[in-house]
Amino acid sequence: MKRLRVCVIGGGAAGLAAARHLTSQLNAFDVSVFEQASCIGGTWVYNENTGRDEHGLPIHSSMYRNLRTNLPKEVMAFPDFPFPSEWPSFLTHQQVLQYLQSYTSHFGLYRYIHFNSFVQSIRPIVNQGTSTSLWEVIVVDTPYKKTSVLLFEAVIVCNGRYSVPFIPEIHGLEHFPGLVMHSHDYRHSKIFQQMNVVIVGAGNSGQDICLEIADSSNFVYLSHKRCLPCKLPDNVKECKPIASVASDGGVQFEDGTKVKVDAILLCTGYEIKIPFLDDNCGIQVRNNRVIHLYKHIFAVMNPTLSFIGLCFHVCPFPLFSLQAQFVTAVLSGVKTLPFEEEMLADEEREFQEKLCSGFQEKYAHSLGERQWTYNRAIAHLAGIKTPSTVCKALYDHVIWRRTNFLMDYKNDDFRQIKR
Ligand code: FAD
Repeated sequence: MKRLRVCVIGGGAAGLAAARHLTSQLNAFDVSVFEQASCIGGTWVYNENTGRDEHGLPIHSSMYRNLRTNLPKEVMAFPDFPFPSEWPSFLTHQQVLQYLQSYTSHFGLYRYIHFNSFVQSIRPIVNQGTSTSLWEVIVVDTPYKKTSVLLFEAVIVCNGRYSVPFIPEIHGLEHFPGLVMHSHDYRHSKIFQQMNVVIVGAGNSGQDICLEIADSSNFVYLSHKRCLPCKLPDNVKECKPIASVASDGGVQFEDGTKVKVDAILLCTGYEIKIPFLDDNCGIQVRNNRVIHLYKHIFAVMNPTLSFIGLCFHVCPFPLFSLQAQFVTAVLSGVKTLPFEEEMLADEEREFQEKLCSGFQEKYAHSLGERQWTYNRAIAHLAGIKTPSTVCKALYDHVIWRRTNFLMDYKNDDFRQIKR
């Protein structure tokens, strides 16, 4: 039997999960992973620099120097590869990278990964002989700028969703005389030493970086829509969203309060960008939503094109593992996808249900509480064991602790919990 040539784009956790499951069926697949960097790990590869790398590509990782994970290792791990038992529950980014390196070695994945290989474009073409569709993938060997045109029967996109900063429109921001930075470029708090800083956004990064900066800056204004229920450091004050910024360093919030600051740090999230997809791929990215996809994974019009890692507000690695197993089952022919109309209807049903629950379009791939039903559905569709419910209980507990005890929750230790 001819093996299916499968192209995986990205050597972060999602791409590695794809490679791990595809290569467990080497008689079925011929796997090539293309990674633009010179190492695996994606997000978890800390880079002191910002801007562009030595090849002119934007620096991918948004990692900062002192980051510790916001999920404990007990729920973060791939289900088939635990973190070392002696490590604490909340890890440093160096530990997560080391774990991903061990995963790659353990499952013998390095030999399938082409480093310094930037995927420039993908387009579907018709295989004249058989009338089946093929994917033409153009890969640039970054050090030499040598271009290769390659053909594959399937493509799995795993290029990450946290590397292109979303910059909101803020009236007057362009005239602000001080430092304006997005969290993508934040590395350590020293840069804000003795400053008065406004942090815009109190999602995971906004909250976490706020605690770091509070240690060395003079005062931090945490500007966001809600009000956090937890205690914050004494030199942090929550404020409404920014109404306008002035050229003298003044910032006015929506309730009319005014402050003067030295820096504005935008913790405003990221945009989904998949620049290498040709228009003929049958995929659109609109408002941080990738359409049309079945179960956030398969391109409905061209299901040999799939995506791993678009969902957020989830336990990422376990979810990647399930998605990778579903893709593997479909590509190997063990499982069949529904008809196109049924997949479109399923996508629309879920989207409408989200809109009715008050979510905006940009949250189309956010799962949160829905992740458990989603995980069960994917496991069922892939024909694999349903994930453990211990993970849900611990995840819920950690989210509750983070919400109510932001300053302390990373001191918790769950190593004694039986899974
Ligand atoms: P990435 O890790 O971004 O990997 C994508 C890879 O694709 C990169 O290596 C990139 O170089 C490559 N690539 C992109 N475009 C191309 C191209 N055109 N050609 C070739 N290669 C390409 N998750 C947790 O579980 N726990 C946490 O505590 C946690 N903390 C986080 C903190 C921060 C600051 C951020 C940004 C994210 C955090 N996450 C956390 C989420 C984290 O992103 C996921 O856990 C996971 O690492 C994402 O993996 P990925 O493979 O989808 O993407």
